[in-house]
Amino acid sequence: MQIVSALPDLRAARASLSGSLGLVPTMGALHAGHMALVTRARNENDCVGASIFVNPSQFGPNEDLSKYPRPLERDLTLLKEAGVDLVWTPSPAEVYPPGFQTWVEVSDVSRPLEGTHRPGHFRGVATVVAKLFNAFTPDRAYFGQKDAQQVIVLAQMRRDLGFPLQMVVCPTVREADGLALSSRNVYLDPQERAAAPILYRALSAARAAYDAGERCGERLRAIMSEILASEPLARVDYVSAADPETLLDVESRADRFLLSMAVCIGRTRLIDNVMLGESDLFPREEQA
Ligand code: AMP
Repeated sequence: MQIVSALPDLRAARASLSGSLGLVPTMGALHAGHMALVTRARNENDCVGASIFVNPSQFGPNEDLSKYPRPLERDLTLLKEAGVDLVWTPSPAEVYPPGFQTWVEVSDVSRPLEGTHRPGHFRGVATVVAKLFNAFTPDRAYFGQKDAQQVIVLAQMRRDLGFPLQMVVCPTVREADGLALSSRNVYLDPQERAAAPILYRALSAARAAYDAGERCGERLRAIMSEILASEPLARVDYVSAADPETLLDVESRADRFLLSMAVCIGRTRLIDNVMLGESDLFPREEQA
């Protein structure tokens, strides 16, 4: 496994790989959710590249950039064991050289949900992923459904800017009690960890109502909100039953919904989502 930091070294290492390349972008602190993307990329490509970069521009001023976990040696061991060929671990100055002033902004689908609560977040995400696509020139890039809005924003960017690659979306990997795996779960103390599955319980209750015939967006949100309100440690940022294309809340009836939420458990902000209706969240061209 080649490990490089400088961009010219990445380009040289990339050029030494032959056959198709699958890319898995990450911020490190790897868990089984990340590794599911790596395994899928390994199965579908001749070579696999990964990036580990805690991207400062996608963090707000009061977010957890400085305390975000960075267990680099452990991450590199996991990637090596999983058969990754090339890892890019750039410094912030390599991604954002002095005088940097070019940003990628995806407009409409960046605005609701996470966009409302984390202004500038998707501008940071889209910019760094555009740079990753340019640097690795992958044939396929792997992302988790866990960050559904991120995938929708990046799929829009891929189409708009014409990146010649396929985006592959992998299902959310969960703990046995339903909690979606996240690098931020390590912040939870035991009491908070016990409360955290409330997100998936709320999503599952709304899904059960949908399966029993409920099609009203307002009602699905009420079901989720009621369950979240039963957990004293949970503070809701938003609860949404949205049109999966516009990401805007559906007020009345629909057949497809992206149910999503952001909830603080103590000081840790968790997000989760499920799709109702057709299971494919993304346009055909983005699918595996
Ligand atoms: P991150 O390191 O949090 O930026 O995540 C890197 C990639 O892993 C993103 O595409 C995430 O959507 C994906 N990912 C994170 N958690 C999970 C999970 N629990 N299941 C599946 N994919 C995940």
